[in-house]
Amino acid sequence: MSALIPHFVEGKRFAGASDRRGDVFDPATGRRTGEVALASAADVAVAVEAASRAARAWRDASLAKRSAVLFAFRELVHARRDRLAEVITAEHGKVLADAAGEVQRGLEVIEYACGIPSALRGAFSENVSTEVDSYTLRQPVGVVAVISPFNFPVMVPLWFVPVAVACGNAVVLKPSEKDPSAALLLAEWFAEAGLPDGVLNVVNGDKEAVDALLDHPEVRAVSFVGSTPIARYVYERGTAAGKRVQALGGAKNHMVVLPDADLDLAADAAVNAGFGSAGERCMAISALVAVEPVGDALVAKIAERMAGLRTGDGRRGCDMGPLVTAAHAERVRSYVGAGVAAGAVAVVDGRDVAPDGDPGGFWLGPTLFDHVSPEMSIYTDEIFGPVLSVLRVGSYDDALDLVNANPYGNGTAIFTNDGGAARRYQHEVEVGMVGINVPIPVPMAYHSFGGWKSSLFGDLHAHGEDGVRFFTRGKVVTSRWLDPRHGGVNLGFPTQS
Ligand code: NAD
Repeated sequence: MSALIPHFVEGKRFAGASDRRGDVFDPATGRRTGEVALASAADVAVAVEAASRAARAWRDASLAKRSAVLFAFRELVHARRDRLAEVITAEHGKVLADAAGEVQRGLEVIEYACGIPSALRGAFSENVSTEVDSYTLRQPVGVVAVISPFNFPVMVPLWFVPVAVACGNAVVLKPSEKDPSAALLLAEWFAEAGLPDGVLNVVNGDKEAVDALLDHPEVRAVSFVGSTPIARYVYERGTAAGKRVQALGGAKNHMVVLPDADLDLAADAAVNAGFGSAGERCMAISALVAVEPVGDALVAKIAERMAGLRTGDGRRGCDMGPLVTAAHAERVRSYVGAGVAAGAVAVVDGRDVAPDGDPGGFWLGPTLFDHVSPEMSIYTDEIFGPVLSVLRVGSYDDALDLVNANPYGNGTAIFTNDGGAARRYQHEVEVGMVGINVPIPVPMAYHSFGGWKSSLFGDLHAHGEDGVRFFTRGKVVTSRWLDPRHGGVNLGFPTQS
C-alpha cells in the first residue's frame, strides 16, 4: 500500500471525499512510490470556499505583515532547499543539481515578492484640478487558481504563488498529478512561516479539478502553465466564465548559429540547452538552425560532447535523468523512430543508451538529428524530450523566416559575434524571450516570463511587474476635501480651472 498524497486546505492536510487516485512513480526505477488523491468538484469547492473566507481578512493584512511572512517563508525554503530538490528528483527524475537550480529560481521569485511594498506603490497627482488630487490603488482580485505542469513542480508554482499572496489574494494551487509532493511541502512551509490558514490551499487532481476551478464563480483569476492545447482550453473556458486568465503553453525553441559564432561555445550551449532536464523544459532548445557553412563543424562538435554525457539516476551524479513517465518515454521514442523514417540523419540515437540506473527506469538517451526539414514531425511537434534537430539554412534571412513561421514563440537564441546581427534579430524575431549567446534566456524574477503566439494565451506574463498587475485590480481615486469655495451648481464638464 503506497502513501497517499492528499490535498491541503485551511492549514491542514485534507483527504477529500473523492475516492479517485493517481499513481506517482520514481522515474529512475519505474516503481510506484505513491498515490495522489484526485479531487472531485466537491473537494475543489471546499478549497475554494476556504480560500474565499481567508481572502476577506488577508486583503486587509498590512504590507509589512505580508512581507514579513514572505521573508520567513524564504528562510525556510532556503534552509530546506536540498530536501526540496530530493523530492523533485524522486518524482520528476531530473538530476539533483538541476533540481537545486529549479529551487533557486523559485527562491528568486519569493525574494521579489518580499519587496511587495515597493512593487505595489501607486502614483499620486496633486492638483489635477484646483485642490483636487488623483491617485492609484492596486487591490487584490480575491481567490486565484494556479495550475502547474509536471516539469517544474517547484519553480512554476513559485512563479505565481508568492506574488499572488503578497498582493493580498488567497490561492488554490493545482499541481501536476505526476509529481505533486513538492507543492504540498511548499504549502506546509508557507503555513509554518505564518501565512494564515486558507490563504494557500493545494488541491491535487486532473481535468476534473481543473474544470471545477475554471467554473467556480469565486475563482477570479487563473494562472496556468502547460501544453498548448490545454492552455488554449483553459484560457477559453476561464475567460468565458468572466475570469482573467494567463495561460502559458508549449514551445519549440530555436537556436540560430551564424557563421561568425564561436562554434565551441555554441556546441556547449546546444548540448546544455537541448538535453538538460532530458529536454523537458519549456525553454529547452529543440531546433538548432545552422547558417551554412557551419553545419558540418557544429554537428561534429555537438556529437563529440554528447559522447561524454552520462544518462542515469539523478541521485548518482549523472548528467541527464529519465523521462517523467513510461508513456512519455514511449511517445518520445516514437518520435525518434518517425525522424529516422522521414529521412533525417540520426547522428546520435538515444534509443541505444545504456543508463546508469535501474533497468525499470523510463530511459531514453540524448538524440541528435541532422538534415531535418521543416515538414518532419520531429520539427513540427513539441516532443518535450532529449531530441535535438539540426536544420541547415543558407542565410540569416532564411533562419529568421523559419523561426517566425513557427507557431510557437516562447524562447529563442542567436549565437554570433556580430552585434549588428544580434540587434537585428532581437528586433525582428517574433518570440517573447530572446538570448544573445545565451541559450536559455529565462528572465530574472524582477522581469516577467512569457512567450508569444501559441506559447501564451492572455497578455500579462508571469512574475515581475506583469505578475503584480495580473494579481491586482487597478483603481483610481479622485479626491477633493471640501472647502466653502467649492459650492455652486454647474452642470458642465469640469474644465482646466
Ligand atoms: P499538461 O498540459 O499535460 O498539464 C498541465 C496541467 O494541466 C496539469 O496540472 C494537468 O493536470 C492539467 N491538465 C492536463 N490535461 C488537462 C485537461 N484535458 N483539462 C484540464 N486540465 C488538464 O502539461 P504537462 O505535460 O504537465 O507539462 C508540459 C507542457 O508544459 C509542455 O508543453 C511545456 O512546454 C509546457 N510548459 C510551458 C511553460 C511556459 O512557461 N510556457 C513552462 C513549463 C511547461
